[in-house]
Amino acid sequence: MKTLLPGATIGMLGGGQLGRMFTLAARSMGYRVHVYTSKPNSPTEQVADFATVAEFDDIDAIEKFAQSVDVVTYEFENVPAAAVQMLEQTVPTHPSSKVLFTAQHRLREKTFLSENGFPVARFYAVSTAEDLEKGLQHTGTPAILKTAGFGYDGKGQAEVHDLQSAITAWENLDRSEAVLEEKVLFNDEVSLVASRNAAGEFAHFGLIQNDHRNHILHLSHAPANAPKELHQCAAEMVRDLCEALEVVGVICVEFFRRGDELIINEIAPRPHNSGHLTIEACQTSQFEQQLRAVCGLPPGPTDFLSPAVMVNLLGDLWENGEPDWQKVLSQSGLHLHLYGKADARVGRKMGHITALGEDAKSKAENIFEHLKRIK
Ligand code: AMP
Repeated sequence: MKTLLPGATIGMLGGGQLGRMFTLAARSMGYRVHVYTSKPNSPTEQVADFATVAEFDDIDAIEKFAQSVDVVTYEFENVPAAAVQMLEQTVPTHPSSKVLFTAQHRLREKTFLSENGFPVARFYAVSTAEDLEKGLQHTGTPAILKTAGFGYDGKGQAEVHDLQSAITAWENLDRSEAVLEEKVLFNDEVSLVASRNAAGEFAHFGLIQNDHRNHILHLSHAPANAPKELHQCAAEMVRDLCEALEVVGVICVEFFRRGDELIINEIAPRPHNSGHLTIEACQTSQFEQQLRAVCGLPPGPTDFLSPAVMVNLLGDLWENGEPDWQKVLSQSGLHLHLYGKADARVGRKMGHITALGEDAKSKAENIFEHLKRIK
């Protein structure tokens, strides 16, 4: 593949905040971005050079889009793999439809991981009520029942304790194809964001530590408080995974950490919420890294310039109007990101704040508590 330099047009599938932050990084380096999104006035469209607003099964729109860009990438994994398959016949598309097809379906992903020797929690495929019974014998209780496709941030999953609660949970998922998973009693949740280009050059940001609330990421801090060997072990695992899946682009692997053991929870073939802090904290952000990987450039250095903590701003904070930005913007070492979403719904990711410095954690926690109190 030829290297794409500034002036080239990058096609971005998906119009959310990840596409927006990618676009801001790409445009600052002189690239152009054409976003393909199904919703008008999306966070990405607001900052992109060009936009196509159409459904992902609109073949004419996909073909026109393919003609107008030099390379295609994506910012969320719920893009139909068929659209990516069509695009890759005309224009280089990274990561490939094969990667997307695997990562957008929990069962395919877990099967791929376990067949290739990567550590995952015990799981069982569920498509009938009998599977629930057999599955519970395999996983033990408590267990987690998850939809096989199109779930994120804990949506479409429930903890189950016995056959009856498993049946109820499965009925709540409309008896759709599901995965029953052992509930992992982890000490911590950590993630590793990495990139790989077509020449196989690999780079990563080390382990980032993540705290969730109600299954949604609340706060990430980096570097994670873990021995050097654990950072290395995670990086080697992700490098092997990228080779096995032939990933070109950015990937995030989320792990459960149980003692010294790392168990893969899930993979996302794109930049990740836990990597947002790389924008200010690292020499190269995860978004520039995505750009570099899909353009055939070498990865940038991933060193941390400062410890960092990122806290998510969910729609809940808007309950009584606009949060107190004056306070955020009056404190040094805090970086505000708002995604341009008009409608602040409970649980919706509206923005984030990154705090830098040795006291990043207390700065992030204090400002978050302040915004919550004032709301
Ligand atoms: P997911 O949407 O699969 O990433 O799940 C969201 C969150 O739910 C995870 O970050 C964990 O906090 C929790 N969770 C999911 N699966 C499991 C599991 N098998 N064991 C324990 N906690 C889980």
